[in-house]
Amino acid sequence: MIKTIGVIGAGTMGNGICQVFAQSGFTVRLFDAAPGAVDRARATIEKSLGKFVEKGKLAAADRDAALGRLHPSTSLDTFADTDYVVEAIYENLDAKRKIFGALDTITRPDVILSSNTSSISITTLGAATKRPGQVLGMHFMNPVPLMTLVELVRGQATTDAAMQTATELCKTLGKTPVEAADYPGFIANRILMPMINEAIFAVMEGVGTPEAIDAVMKLGMNHPMGPLTLADFIGLDVCQAILEVLHDGLGDPKYRPCPLLKRMVAAGQLGRKSGRGFYTYA
Ligand code: NAD
Repeated sequence: MIKTIGVIGAGTMGNGICQVFAQSGFTVRLFDAAPGAVDRARATIEKSLGKFVEKGKLAAADRDAALGRLHPSTSLDTFADTDYVVEAIYENLDAKRKIFGALDTITRPDVILSSNTSSISITTLGAATKRPGQVLGMHFMNPVPLMTLVELVRGQATTDAAMQTATELCKTLGKTPVEAADYPGFIANRILMPMINEAIFAVMEGVGTPEAIDAVMKLGMNHPMGPLTLADFIGLDVCQAILEVLHDGLGDPKYRPCPLLKRMVAAGQLGRKSGRGFYTYA
């Protein structure tokens, strides 16, 4: 019986993950290494739940109950009573390996340890534990409370039983799980990032302006957002990092990050978060 969820990392993804578990009735323990991060996450969750209440999609009592199920942790040791863990710290292999090693000693041996990683090998994270069969990828999409997809990534050693448990958990959250194998970029980024990269090559070669390229993909392909608007939203540095993982891991030159993308990242033009990318933001 899964009742208590441990979430590590209280950033963009971690707070959304906590919110959906707490809203679905789970007790949630949230740990972050940075001082104040858990408090900021709680404030973000409160604001997000408040919007659902304003829109009439959530009762005020259910918001209060969800917030009551959220418990800040000051140490990973408090995860000893968790039944399932989702790691959502920043995208760094060494840091994630350390966390998985620590969780392996703190949590019960039957507990599934999952990672929200966008691109790091689940098999490698599993190898940092003595329970690789219980390690899998649980790749939520941003913003977590609104996006229904969860990519469930099966590592080389992940058991069918662990995948089944994660699948059922996703359904309890009202999400749609889709299984992907543990190859660089899984499914979502394997397909999305080359499209974004190609759109950037098209800008570099003068095939079209960013506005023209986004308009073609929105109006002609029915995408809700053009690829360059989406790249600005994700962060151009993040796009470059994921393309490098695809390029290194798959070895095909078709994944090389576009020189214009690299030049913009070097100039600090990272998209929305820096105020400038393919578009400018107030
Ligand atoms: P973020 O930078 O917003 O948050 C990361 C948090 O992890 C920070 O609060 C940081 O203090 C904390 N942290 C770092 N090292 C830690 C440690 N050793 N122990 C505890 N806490 C630690 O990052 P994010 O955008 O939420 O991304 C988290 C993960 O989700 C990454 O693996 C990323 O690839 C993945 N992801 C991100 C998105 C997205 O759109 N942002 C989408 C899907 C998946």
